[in-house]
Amino acid sequence: MASANATPTPDAAAVWAVLERLTDPEIPVVTLAEMGILRDVRALDGRWQIVITPTYSGCPAMSQIEDDIRTALAEHGLEGEVITQLAPAWTTAWMSAQARVKLRDYGIAPPQDEMDLTGHPAGTQVLRFLPRATQTEAVPCPQCQSANTTLTSNFGSTACKALYKCLDCLEPFDYFKPH
Ligand SMILES: [Zn+2]
Repeated sequence: MASANATPTPDAAAVWAVLERLTDPEIPVVTLAEMGILRDVRALDGRWQIVITPTYSGCPAMSQIEDDIRTALAEHGLEGEVITQLAPAWTTAWMSAQARVKLRDYGIAPPQDEMDLTGHPAGTQVLRFLPRATQTEAVPCPQCQSANTTLTSNFGSTACKALYKCLDCLEPFDYFKPH
């Protein structure tokens, strides 16, 4: 009855549902699926392959993410392995509209890019959210929405963020740089 290409049970959507609750270790309010880090769930020889793409190469959170996925699979009695896929490289355009809203509510200005409306993994909801990127590169303050902000340092709490300061409410904040 079982063949080499048999699809394991439960189906990929059920496995996706287990994994899409996992959050980004660096930004705990946002899930791996919303960040576009969780790329694919596929079956091979009766086992699951979970495909992830790091936000940048050498991202220190990746081993934590792999551990979290293995733990979640084990808790649900699922057999599988984690595949790290480096190409195509992760881009902030893969971050969902929900991720951008949660990021801002968390105090991090979301990237001023244009969302990729085609490359989202199955199961994620794609919403139009950002207006077209403007030439001015103004980064709105996540606290008070003022556009009167200034770059303090090109590197914030991690390499993929820059440090800004709002000139109206005077709060410093991280900006998730588009890349
Ligand atoms: Zn402000």
